[in-house]
Amino acid sequence: MKRVRLLVFNAALGVLDYRLPEGMAIEFGSVVIAPLGPRQVLGIVWEAERLKAKEVPDAKLRPLLEVLPVPPLRAELRRLIEWTADYYCAPMSAVARMALASSAALRGGTTTTEYRLTGEEPTRMTPQRAAALDALQGEQATIRELAELAGVSEGVLRGMVGAGILEPVTVDLDRPYPAALPDFAAPDLNPDQQAAADAFIAATRGHAFAPFLLDGVTGSGKTECYFEAIAEALQLGRQVLVLLPEIALTENFLRRFEHRFGVPPVLWHSSLKSSERRRAWRAIVQGQAQVVVGARSALFLPYANLGLIVVDEAHEVSFKQDDGVRYNARDVAVIRARFESVPVILASATPALESMQLAEAGVYRRIALPDRFGGATLPEISVVDLRAEVPERGRWLAPRLVEGMKQRLARGEQSLLFLNRRGYAPLTLCRHCGYRFQCPNCTAWLVEHRFSGRLACHHCGHEVPVPEVCPECGTGDCLVACGPGVERIADEVAEILPEARVAVVTSDTLNTPEAIGAFVAAAEEGAIDVIIGTQLVTKGYHFPELTLVGVVDADLGLEGGDLRAAERTYQQVAQVAGRAGRGEKPGEVLIQTRHPEAPVIAALAAGDRDAFYDAEAQARREAGAPPFGRWAAIIVSSEDQAEAQMAARAIGGTRPDHPDIMVLGPAPAPMALLRGRYRYRLLINARRSAELQRVIREWLDALTFPQGVRVNIDIDPYSF
Ligand code: ADP
Ligand code: ZN
Repeated sequence: MKRVRLLVFNAALGVLDYRLPEGMAIEFGSVVIAPLGPRQVLGIVWEAERLKAKEVPDAKLRPLLEVLPVPPLRAELRRLIEWTADYYCAPMSAVARMALASSAALRGGTTTTEYRLTGEEPTRMTPQRAAALDALQGEQATIRELAELAGVSEGVLRGMVGAGILEPVTVDLDRPYPAALPDFAAPDLNPDQQAAADAFIAATRGHAFAPFLLDGVTGSGKTECYFEAIAEALQLGRQVLVLLPEIALTENFLRRFEHRFGVPPVLWHSSLKSSERRRAWRAIVQGQAQVVVGARSALFLPYANLGLIVVDEAHEVSFKQDDGVRYNARDVAVIRARFESVPVILASATPALESMQLAEAGVYRRIALPDRFGGATLPEISVVDLRAEVPERGRWLAPRLVEGMKQRLARGEQSLLFLNRRGYAPLTLCRHCGYRFQCPNCTAWLVEHRFSGRLACHHCGHEVPVPEVCPECGTGDCLVACGPGVERIADEVAEILPEARVAVVTSDTLNTPEAIGAFVAAAEEGAIDVIIGTQLVTKGYHFPELTLVGVVDADLGLEGGDLRAAERTYQQVAQVAGRAGRGEKPGEVLIQTRHPEAPVIAALAAGDRDAFYDAEAQARREAGAPPFGRWAAIIVSSEDQAEAQMAARAIGGTRPDHPDIMVLGPAPAPMALLRGRYRYRLLINARRSAELQRVIREWLDALTFPQGVRVNIDIDPYSF
């Protein structure tokens, strides 16, 4: 009899043994269906010696039910799943689930049914039908997705199918993606770019692990360099994965990709329709998807023959996943490249200190692009000390910045104001009684959004309409907005430059690819004079007429004592500064601050990147922070505060006594209440060499917690 070990898709169980029925052919990595109690579960056939399972006698083994008709997960990917689970102290099944991503794609056939409007008018109109007709113009998706889109029940839509208002369309999930053309529009590279491209091409041909740090100033043309490596992979018939930090970047990237290769790449992100997800997944496992451009979740997909990985804007915080499996996609990308024996290119104008240090240590090969492409110069950066150059009362823009914007408007050029705060004001209070609007579910103020007339929590989504009277003292007309958000800056700009055409760019205002596309087109045509935005505008865009960038509050990110505050501020300001003067006209950047002496601000003003990295390395060395030491966090949460506190104390009370490991806390987490859960935190600082993960696992495995308590481990946490 043959015993088969499965990684089962059930985090609580993890690994189970089964019996292989007569005549069923499997191999390691096969995706199978197995019985579990009265139910059926998905599982992956694994090497028995690599996974521990509960001892079950032969006689008790149940037989596997079915092998799914998808290619088995390759050994390279199985090793990556093991590594990730091990390193991030996550359940293996949770990691494996990211590889299978779309279990629907595994089971269903090669077609699926979607629905779209027929154009037929309903003979019986109801408010729901009217809403659906309105919302579903041009849409095609499953009933469930359409229901979500239109905000009506599935029943309403089924009724519309019956009435001939919606019609079914059969979608072929195996229709191939069009072939990318490596030579479609190859650019002439400048000598620096050519040197970079040559190195990438050689490594791609070599099919060996080769990590690169492509360290190029903003506007140096990094994309064109790695596009040449993609062209090479295409010639060789291998797949390419390009990870981008945010969906917002994609629109711009897709246009450039299509311009270069003649067709769009295959997209992978969380808001794909289920049929798009199924189609992409199938094409990826079959090797038909050549270039996949995705958010971090694309990293674990079962590529048939990966030849190259690119991580663009590799310093971006959004590569760090902060729930579920808490992994850093930038770091795992390098590990995947190692397992797959392929090159990986980390591209950035402001690399993370960790990446710089690895380059310095010779682990990564650093390739520099020190100049902007096409003779454009880097912008002139200066500091506006808000203590000396005071904005008018009730305003936030200093006279010098206002003057600069007036000049740009007169010359037909564009200005960009950066403030990383959505909404109108971060805090609203009652002038009469001092009441502050706070989120009932989170340790956070409610942020006023004037466009929508609501107060909103940016952590849990809780929203209320802005009330007429104070809910505490009942006084009318008493609410005061404290501090600026982008909407308030937009009001200020409307007052000082009434004739200017202003665009506010945040995830509230630009939340679809179409909206982003329309904004980019308008900005490129010169139909916008002033862009006001959050970090959404800091990168990726190339507007030749944009010659002035104002950083409204450079101190914003420095508050709060976050370990990475300085680095993040440096990156954001350098990136947004990089939007200025990318065309023929030189750019100017004004940084408003109350702390011009802070090392990060001084380094930005002096344009002295090395000074920043030196200061940052010094600070991190003193804190035992990465890359010199390691941090981990244990977050304990529960809806019951006492329960959370008790569990955190229990963990703290059994802290390991280890010479290389120091445990701080427990203390209330920085967000002590988040989405209705009370949170406590322990921080762990360890020497580089310590077996941090093993110690944490053994420590926590020995404890049990009440049902309602969640214990999350965050290895290499991003912010704390
Ligand atoms: P980065 O990503 O390094 O900030 P980009 O890749 O966005 O820079 O390049 C800046 C601009 O220069 C883009 O508009 C790009 O199309 C253009 N560019 C870069 N390299 C070339 C080239 N070799 N030929 C033509 N245009 C180029
Ligand atoms: Zn909240």
